[in-house]
Amino acid sequence: MALQRPKGTQDLLPSQTAKWQYLEEMMRKVCREYGYEEIRTPIFEATELFQRGVGETTDIVNKEMYTFLDKGERSITLRPEGTASVCRAYVENKLYAGPQPVKLYYIGPMFRYERPQTGRYRQFHQFGVEVLGSEKPVVDAETISLVWDLYQRLGLKNLEVHINSVGCPSCRADHRQKLQEFLAPRREELCPDCQDRFERNPLRILDCKNPKCQKLTQGAPTTADTLCEDCQGHFNALQELLQAAGVVFRVNPRLVRGLDYYRKTAFEVMVEEIGAQSAICGGGRYDGLTEEIGGPPTPGIGFAMGMERVLAAIEVQKAMPDQVERPFVMVAALGKEAEGKGFALLQALRHAGIPAGMDLLGRGLKAQLKNADRQEAKLALLIGEEELQKDSFILRDLSLGEQQEFPWQDALALISQRYREEHGS
Ligand code: AMP
Repeated sequence: MALQRPKGTQDLLPSQTAKWQYLEEMMRKVCREYGYEEIRTPIFEATELFQRGVGETTDIVNKEMYTFLDKGERSITLRPEGTASVCRAYVENKLYAGPQPVKLYYIGPMFRYERPQTGRYRQFHQFGVEVLGSEKPVVDAETISLVWDLYQRLGLKNLEVHINSVGCPSCRADHRQKLQEFLAPRREELCPDCQDRFERNPLRILDCKNPKCQKLTQGAPTTADTLCEDCQGHFNALQELLQAAGVVFRVNPRLVRGLDYYRKTAFEVMVEEIGAQSAICGGGRYDGLTEEIGGPPTPGIGFAMGMERVLAAIEVQKAMPDQVERPFVMVAALGKEAEGKGFALLQALRHAGIPAGMDLLGRGLKAQLKNADRQEAKLALLIGEEELQKDSFILRDLSLGEQQEFPWQDALALISQRYREEHGS
């Protein structure tokens, strides 16, 4: 039996990789404009990094990690997300000793053992940014604006940008108590996961997707009700900055990030048209994380964007520009001698930056022309017996169906000129 790829993974074939390259280029371009630099961290890390950096109580660490012992008996995990690795690299490479804040981005595969479905894979790709070293609300505004601008640039519509503040450890303790008081009489009716969360992480009950839990938590105190002065000031400033930047957002008091090191800003972007897995980006401030993994106290904020889902949104909204690179000219030669002459010209055309191709299967002239048509080339350059004798070639415009004979020595200059006319350079 022919072998198959593992469940939850994808082969990205050329018709798709062109779209991925388009998306990646747009991401890199926007990052450059915003002054973010790329970081590349290992695909696998010590398991402990994620236990500490993502959190022992999360689904990711509890159920979804690809963890194994390597031949040296070390516990290794394929990275399920990017933030913990970036913070580790920041500490390990002492980036905190240089100018602050440090503004980084990454693009790459992540691995989670989840139940595969539309928009949910076991190997998927994230584009993310992390800013370390500033606690100012203008950084929160900048990262959210970056997401917004990228989506505008990609031509995406119907975006739902939700923001919230989850407060800080001191005001969150107050909220936790009020929330537990509210939920205590309803505790038995919560879903098993939420019953579990009641002590461990009651905040997460607020964003449980179970309809019964959603109903039970209607009217529950949200973090917005208990924000301390500092957190409220930060949240107000963020909203003003976003408004000034023209970002359209909505405050969603039920949007939460449950872990202790999350502070203040949380945000998420949804596109409903792509189905149940509609979140295309999620992020927030994590001022306690760097310390958690053994570094100096360092404020941080970032987001991660699911690239498969962004591409799905581009697809349903028909926002993808044509990505196919067609050869401008196909060289069609018949016989060994003509092939040699044609191949030398082919290389000269390519060196001049003109997309060009040639038959690679030893086909007859007619089949070569048919192939040139199929590839949607603009021109075909023919050299048969007769043209060899005369030291000439025939240039056929494939869209017009017209052709003309020229001296061989003019070939490169003529095609270059046509290419420039066509492409305006
Ligand atoms: P998270 O790291 O869980 O906050 O996820 C950030 C973003 O990554 C989400 O908003 C999704 O767009 C994407 N994402 C997370 N998990 C998956 C997955 N299993 N498959 C595809 N995309 C995912």
